[in-house]
Amino acid sequence: MTRMFLLVTLILTVILSGCQSEGEENGEETAVTTTSAQANITPTSKPTIAPTDTLAPTVIATPVPETVTNWWDDTVFYEVFVRSYYDSDGDGVGDINGLIERLDYLNDGDPATTDDLGVTGIWLMPIMESPSYHGYDVVDYYQVDEEYGTEEDFKRLMAEAEKRGIKVIVDLVLNHTSAQHPWFTDAEAGEDAVARDWYVWEDENPGWAGPNGQVVWHESPTGYYYGVFWDQMPDLNLTNEATTDEMHTIARYWLEEMGVDGFRLDAIKYLVAEGDMQVGTQSTHAWMKEFYDVYKETNPEAFAVGEVWSPTFEAVKYVGDEVDATFEFDLAEAILSGVLSKKADPIARAQRKVVETYPPGQYGIFLTNHDQNRVMTRLLEDENRAKLAATLLLTSPGVPFVYYGEEIGQVGAKPDEDIRRPLQWDSSENAGFSIGQPWREPYEDFEERNIAVQMDDPDSLLSHYRDLIRLRNEHEALRTGDWTQVETNESHTYAFLRHHGDEFILVLVNLGVNPVEEYELMLDEGIFDGIASDSLQAVSLYGQENPAGPTINESGGFIGYRPFTSLPPQSNVIIQLSID
Ligand code: CA
Repeated sequence: MTRMFLLVTLILTVILSGCQSEGEENGEETAVTTTSAQANITPTSKPTIAPTDTLAPTVIATPVPETVTNWWDDTVFYEVFVRSYYDSDGDGVGDINGLIERLDYLNDGDPATTDDLGVTGIWLMPIMESPSYHGYDVVDYYQVDEEYGTEEDFKRLMAEAEKRGIKVIVDLVLNHTSAQHPWFTDAEAGEDAVARDWYVWEDENPGWAGPNGQVVWHESPTGYYYGVFWDQMPDLNLTNEATTDEMHTIARYWLEEMGVDGFRLDAIKYLVAEGDMQVGTQSTHAWMKEFYDVYKETNPEAFAVGEVWSPTFEAVKYVGDEVDATFEFDLAEAILSGVLSKKADPIARAQRKVVETYPPGQYGIFLTNHDQNRVMTRLLEDENRAKLAATLLLTSPGVPFVYYGEEIGQVGAKPDEDIRRPLQWDSSENAGFSIGQPWREPYEDFEERNIAVQMDDPDSLLSHYRDLIRLRNEHEALRTGDWTQVETNESHTYAFLRHHGDEFILVLVNLGVNPVEEYELMLDEGIFDGIASDSLQAVSLYGQENPAGPTINESGGFIGYRPFTSLPPQSNVIIQLSID
């Protein structure tokens, strides 16, 4: 990445934005509230995008099946921080070639082998040119960060991933750029700067604070600019049509030229502030609807999952015609706190709400991500708790995301760099991550806790993740089946049924540290209506063997069902109930 290239990019950008603003002077300044249909009528110097009606089901010429399944419904994602995954060249920084070299760990593409993790999707945290170690402040959206590799490396990664049946989505930061982005350095020059309106400026400090009370108006020699996260991350002005067009072009570029399967969209609830209303505004939703049309028109199979770090009822508002899915932060928190407190009820409540709220399965489920203390640390380094949490993650409806290192129980508490440390491959120097000095030291427990140690141990956390991911991959009921809570009379016991077609899968966990004997399972919904008890075959898919089957009552449910006489402490069992 040379300065010359940056300069050329800036000049091109300036020329483009010049063209755009010419058109805009005659138009209404309502880009952000126009619907996508209106936006298509608005004159623009860019090639017009395909008409939106190609997406409407009513005009699709070829008949589509009644239940349209999406590839992401069948996918288990793995969140990769490239800097910390594997370093191929010894400079201490993980890179794309390192990820390719160690791709077989995630999925070797051979269904006959069982020593790979079996994930079928990767979310790459930001890989675009950025001055920071994390990459969430981009300086060039069209460039792979030099420390990570080249465009060719990236394309090779895409090809290698495809060979193994792995889809790849990339982090896309629409809300803000780096303060070092040429757009911002131009904008900062003064009111007459061509890119001035690409950011949000005020002459006087408006004075109001951000949603968390943080400073959002930052002083510069030419005025105050808005940046909801940090003064080095100025928010883009997405009410400016030229800026919006550019973000659309960037999305098309990654889908068409770089071949990605979709995006993880960062911080979308902040996209368009309306004065001091900064979260989830109407303008933000309108902007996202237009963005949705753009990425779906570019590739109808493209998947976007949005980061809306808000309660379920807020997160769901983006799903359907703005993004395909949002991350379920409430459920993640409920799983962790339920596992920690050994209480089933908070988990069941959150899960019920999620199932009732979203379109079936259209939400990302996870335990923690790169912004949160690691699962193992949250669960007080209790490996049995980590297994329980993993069971709940990988048997629940939704699209699961595993944060790298979670599968071996890597620990880590903030600051952020410490929850994003190098992956612990083996007990050799630098945890086998790099032959050079790592950008950040691996955690001190790497000699005992690493992939190599856990790889061949059937009782390891890694084996638990592998087994459960494989079960999910094999059983449609676990991926896309209905979810029904099974009531229990015992507070440490949590049970639910997943159901698809003729397959019923019962997931039963004992969150407590004591054996449970006084328990009964009850199902008062007629899921088994018309099915005779003696035609139901109970087989253990995971955990304790030889379960008893339920006695189906007249209403198609069961009362007093006890698959085992005793549930061991912190145990997980997955029982398949199939019809003979
Ligand atoms: Ca490297």
